[in-house]
Amino acid sequence: MGLQIDIPAVLANHAALAAKAPGARAAAVVKADAYGLGATRVAPALYAAGVREFFVALAHEGRAMRAHLPEDAQINILSGHMEGEDLAGLTPVLNSPAQFFRDRAMRPGGRFAIQLDTGMNRLGMEAAEWAAIRDEALAARPAFIMSHLACADEPDHPANAAQLAAFRAMTDECGVPRSLAATGGILLGPDYHFDLVRPGIGLYGGLPFAQAQPVVRLSLRVIQTRDVKAGEMVGYGASWHASRDSRIATVDAGYADGVLRALSSSGVSLFAGDAACPVVGRVSMDLITVDVTDLPEVPDALDLICPQQPIDRLADLAGTIGYEILTSLRQRYQRTYL
Ligand SMILES: *Cc1c(COP(=O)(O)O)cnc(C)c1O
Repeated sequence: MGLQIDIPAVLANHAALAAKAPGARAAAVVKADAYGLGATRVAPALYAAGVREFFVALAHEGRAMRAHLPEDAQINILSGHMEGEDLAGLTPVLNSPAQFFRDRAMRPGGRFAIQLDTGMNRLGMEAAEWAAIRDEALAARPAFIMSHLACADEPDHPANAAQLAAFRAMTDECGVPRSLAATGGILLGPDYHFDLVRPGIGLYGGLPFAQAQPVVRLSLRVIQTRDVKAGEMVGYGASWHASRDSRIATVDAGYADGVLRALSSSGVSLFAGDAACPVVGRVSMDLITVDVTDLPEVPDALDLICPQQPIDRLADLAGTIGYEILTSLRQRYQRTYL
């Protein structure tokens, strides 16, 4: 019951992605509480499996992580060195000359990395900014230099090759370890792997890593079951009316738990084993109503996320991506870690 998180599956996914990039070390991206699955459980398990480089978005995530990982685990902060931030024991990924100079002034000799922008225009130094500080930055010995691909989940997108060429042009002569690929980049092949790869979503069972083992199962408890006559309505807005005499189960999660309201009337189902039971009416804050008329017997719980309906199927139905499905899952579920 509740949210079941399969840690051995995370480790298997990490090993499978690492095996696709045998020339590189494989880090693990555990930002946003390991995509909502619990960084304090996921990261130590990955450490025990040999992972030594971790990435989070913000320094406070890194500080929370620090206590759960031995000293030789490197915790890299993608937002870099923001004003007034305590970065003791952390590695900022410096995104601008201003961050570089602030960091060197505040933490002389401290471990740091550099992020370059190669076309995504989100984070990182532009080519001209990098050219201006490059000699000084290299003299300070960055742990690695990285960039990020905008379209790695679309292998034929021309931006991939363009970003690769830009990254090479900015870093080929640097003599510093390099990192370009997240999950999608790993799957683009060896040209994209360099020295360090940074998988996130693939560890947690999401596309574009189609061979990933599923990591999450979400089972919702049936609170109540009722008979509804043909023509009666169910739920807010009376958006659904029974077309036949029906049996409706009400289960204990809703949009406050990350079951996106956009899933209402989307064709989403809850599963009793292989049997699909359509969600009917609108998703409420704490409740969902499900048509269980065709089940011979109503079980104690029905699954929203399961092998029959993986996160990317839910994402398609809700008009979003697997990343948002995972990071929307909230703390209210009882969690079980395998
Ligand atoms: C989130 C993120 C990753 C991980 O990306 P996935 O697509 O989840 O594998 C890697 N690098 C950076 C800079 C990121 O922001």
